[in-house]
Amino acid sequence: MEFRNLKRQYEFNKENIDTAIQNVLNSAHFIQGNQVVELEKKLSEYVGVKHCITCANGTDALKLALMTWNIGKGDAVFLPDFTFFATGEAVAAVGAVPVFVDVDVETFNIDVHRLEERIKKVIEEGCYQPKVIIAVDLFGQPADYLEIRKIADEFNLYILEDAAQGFGGAILNKKACSFGDISATSFFPAKPFGCYGDGGAVFTDRDDWMQLIRSYAVHGKGNSKYDNIRIGMNSRLDTIQAAVLLAKFPVYIDNELQESSMFAKVYDEQLKDIVKIPYVKKNYFSCWAQYTIQLKDETERFKVQNYLKKECIPTAVYYPIPMHKQKSLKNMGLQNDCAVSEKLCKKVLSLPLDPYMKHEDINFVVKKVKESLTE
Ligand SMILES: *Cc1c(COP(=O)(O)O)cnc(C)c1O
Repeated sequence: MEFRNLKRQYEFNKENIDTAIQNVLNSAHFIQGNQVVELEKKLSEYVGVKHCITCANGTDALKLALMTWNIGKGDAVFLPDFTFFATGEAVAAVGAVPVFVDVDVETFNIDVHRLEERIKKVIEEGCYQPKVIIAVDLFGQPADYLEIRKIADEFNLYILEDAAQGFGGAILNKKACSFGDISATSFFPAKPFGCYGDGGAVFTDRDDWMQLIRSYAVHGKGNSKYDNIRIGMNSRLDTIQAAVLLAKFPVYIDNELQESSMFAKVYDEQLKDIVKIPYVKKNYFSCWAQYTIQLKDETERFKVQNYLKKECIPTAVYYPIPMHKQKSLKNMGLQNDCAVSEKLCKKVLSLPLDPYMKHEDINFVVKKVKESLTE
């Protein structure tokens, strides 16, 4: 069994993907080909945001947003303590101070009460200027943007949505990647909507920010690539990757999202009485980047994970180390109590889930999880 079966996904969509890649080879427009333009148009329409700017990966997408807002030295950026490293890395990379905020034990997403406390504390201490809240749509479920927006308005902060795991999710009819003043996503192969290499995108309604993002992504270009008016980076989505995403897009929207949800429900039903299953809030739609259960403690998790491993069932621990304990960020982020995040790092276990699973795979995983706990 695979943790996320990308091979089966390719087999199912082989013809369309092969043709799409072949067309790029024939055209030889490997950088900024028509497919890139077409993809940006499709994605911005789907998400319901005016501009989509593709780039080289999700980490760059976050950085491009922060650069556009001129975030740097002396600025405080608030982000969840329980997330992939890149969320904090992007903040540190532009020279700002990451302020880690504890998360909600049910949704894994940033705890809005703790967020408000932390912002007030930073203002009170007076060392750093609060500028941005980065909310992460962890494991596929959008963060609590209704509350986060109120807080951002109250303290005059920008919201950057890190939807690297969230593309395809929604709150009611409003899609992920539309909740931030700027939103970012990743097309890394194992993300819900992945390409066949690295890729990412930035979304915004603002024309002026779109222009800045496009400039920063291409060497700080002015009127042309050879007129360089600011220090930027080289961050573009390859045409081949855009072609792969275009071929996969209708399948993702029309089938894969529903299939993943359906399998998650099957897990829920069969596991709800034995472990803590993931919780998706009412009116929230997860795109199921991960199906993450919580065990009692580290010992129990170790037991379950090893038992499954012996049965050739791959699992993953996202994430084993809270952000505030990462060696590279430890002395940089402002110290803060993140008890929930620390506990989650010891208890979480992500099970295999992808739209191309078979029912017998799920049943097998469930059976083995049960066995491991009663052994
Ligand atoms: C994957 C991920 C990123 C970074 O995306 P890349 O394309 O790998 O650079 C950022 N934030 C979160 C939450 C992620 O899961």
